[in-house]
Amino acid sequence: MVESQSWTNSFSTSFKNIHELYRFLDWELTPALEKVAKTYPVFIPRRLAEKIKVQGPQSVLAREFLPIESELDPDFKGLEDPIGDKTYHKAPQLIHRYESRALFTPTTICPVHCRYCFRKNELNVADEIFQQDFVETIAYLKAHPEVSEIIFTGGDPLTLSNDKLEKYLTAFSEVSSIKDIRFHSRYPVILPERIDDGFLALMEKFKSRFRTITLAIHANHVDEFDEINRQAIKKLTSSSMQILSQTVLLKGINDSTEVLLNLYQEFISLKIRPYYLHHPDQVKGGMHFYLPLRQGREIYHGLRKLIPGWALPHYVIDIPGGHGKISAMNPESTTFSGQLISKDGELVSIQEPDFFI
Ligand code: SF4
Repeated sequence: MVESQSWTNSFSTSFKNIHELYRFLDWELTPALEKVAKTYPVFIPRRLAEKIKVQGPQSVLAREFLPIESELDPDFKGLEDPIGDKTYHKAPQLIHRYESRALFTPTTICPVHCRYCFRKNELNVADEIFQQDFVETIAYLKAHPEVSEIIFTGGDPLTLSNDKLEKYLTAFSEVSSIKDIRFHSRYPVILPERIDDGFLALMEKFKSRFRTITLAIHANHVDEFDEINRQAIKKLTSSSMQILSQTVLLKGINDSTEVLLNLYQEFISLKIRPYYLHHPDQVKGGMHFYLPLRQGREIYHGLRKLIPGWALPHYVIDIPGGHGKISAMNPESTTFSGQLISKDGELVSIQEPDFFI
């Protein structure tokens, strides 16, 4: 398969050196920021850096992607593996936490380093999975036919070349219990050149081999969109893929009903189906983005009043320690306390009939 050079060029010319980046921005690089970037390096494509330069140091884009001193603040205590992924590594690059689906992490490389990332302490370690390991991964899936969906994650799975993606998709299509494929990616917004003809042709080629192929696009704020990435997203929504949204609720970025409303209106205009709104994970180096669950619930309640149910994302939280994802609006687990949250955000008591108890 012939690959477009353009996205690989955009990727390889990205800013990886903090000095070069700040020279380009023409902003002051303090020793403290330099120190942060040694622990959590920058990675910013040139087009994104140009947008950051235009929008300024206080902009949403600057806060999402440039280092700040709080990342090393010892008072902000967070976890290296906030959602407990390591507990569920069942085969090489395979995390099997939920019965019917498994996360496949073939790369830890991304098109940008998001400063809030829940995997920020694991990024850029490797982008290769060796043949022998992959044989083991496939053997695990054949022995676990309850897994019907493979979720490509990372890092960002679209960092893989089209040839590598084809190799993995071919192997998964030969496991009869795998019905659905999903990608979670920031590329369509951050490095939209990645949505090249080869990628679209590949998805077309595999559409009859799987029940669904889904791409969840990661975006947090309407300022991330421009005419170039909107065009790439239109190619995706015109394809046979199912296109969903994925957003992280972040203090100082999108922690208001109004900002989220603008974002979800953008998703709706682009025909992206709202899927997940994640409460932020308690990640080491990203705790300055954290906000209390109570506040997140108030924001979500506001959103719920303003957009129809079909345009409303699931507001979810990953419980630290590997306990998995649950609704962030649910004050409990499977036991019912006798109270539900009303449309006004109040707890209301519900008396259930005796015969259910
Ligand atoms: S693209 Fe995703 S995995 Fe990569 S740094 Fe951003 S949030 Fe993390």
